[in-house]
Amino acid sequence: MIDVSTRAARSLFYTSQAWRILREQALERDHYECVWCREEGKVTTENLEVDHIKELEFYPEFALDLDNLRTLCKECHNKRHGRFQFRKSKKMIEKNFRTDEFWG
Ligand SMILES: [Zn+2]
Repeated sequence: MIDVSTRAARSLFYTSQAWRILREQALERDHYECVWCREEGKVTTENLEVDHIKELEFYPEFALDLDNLRTLCKECHNKRHGRFQFRKSKKMIEKNFRTDEFWG
């Protein structure tokens, strides 16, 4: 199994060739569009990132499962990981930062 137990290990994961290939497949499948924006009738094709639906840190077995990936724009991705939800407690924010994706 892929080691994603630490931030350093996850950083390494995101540089792996296996991830790069799969990430490209996810983008292609989603037509290089943010899937959340699309649900709202918007087309966003810039600043795209690939999100793990079941978070990498907690579900390493789905790390390289295409069905576990979705294309989000940076803005939706930030929303998803709660980076701009300042009302959350500091602990929550730290937790979100820990599960954050490497290139985000
Ligand atoms: Zn979006």
